Amino acid sequence: MARHNGGRGWYGKTVGAALAVVVAATGASVWAAQAGAVSAASPKPAASSAPSASSASSASPAAGSQSAKVAVSIAHASDKGPRGLNITIDDGPDPQWTPRVLEVLDEFGVKATFCMVGTQAKAHPDLVKKVVAAGHRLCDHSVGHDTGMDKKSQEYQAQQILDAERMITEASGGVKPMYYRAPGGAFTPYSRQLAASHGMRPLGWNVDTKDFEKPGTDAIVATVRQELSNGPTLLFHDAGGDRSQTVEALRRILPELKEQGFSFGFPVLN
Ligand SMILES: [Zn+2]
Repeated sequence: MARHNGGRGWYGKTVGAALAVVVAATGASVWAAQAGAVSAASPKPAASSAPSASSASSASPAAGSQSAKVAVSIAHASDKGPRGLNITIDDGPDPQWTPRVLEVLDEFGVKATFCMVGTQAKAHPDLVKKVVAAGHRLCDHSVGHDTGMDKKSQEYQAQQILDAERMITEASGGVKPMYYRAPGGAFTPYSRQLAASHGMRPLGWNVDTKDFEKPGTDAIVATVRQELSNGPTLLFHDAGGDRSQTVEALRRILPELKEQGFSFGFPVLN
């Protein structure tokens, strides 16, 4: 379901194992080179039928809410600085897997960013509240996870983003999402502007663990180790199928990264 952000490859994979050492030494400057990387890949076909765009005009922010000033560019950096990492968890909440992911994060004292699909948030408001109560942040991941939405009208994009913002905010009991991650990375200049104007920083990723494809726990862990040099924002999923490999991979990789001196924070807002 996820689509690559085109951020890999710039540093050369042949450097191999030495890479982690290099990154440790150069830290912020390596990751700074990633800032603003946007996908040029063509989108996958839409996974869902297009809902009516007619509700876009009515999708205004909740009365009385105020939007923080956030940047329009796609965030990758961590608010914990050059040794900080951002764990991001997409496509939930899911009644089976979100609690399991929350358990692991709690076990290691890690705060994460949950990119929620509007319909999922609406269906499971208890889970949205649990995520917020545990100190994690919310991210708008659109209403229906249409990875082709960058090819559709502005009205449609607005409906997908703003209706999801409303659904997530209602489910959370009034806590607004602070980020917007386009499904599959299908951002447009318009969708980034719109999200930012509603206080939601566009959010990218640097390490696609491909956990969605269920490659095995070892493979997920290996991908994190090998691609950490791409940047600090790691992509996992807590919905869309059996996520036991994701849960187990987090249980293995979080303490390992901590031992390496990494800390866990949130994507920068500005
Ligand atoms: Zn997704």
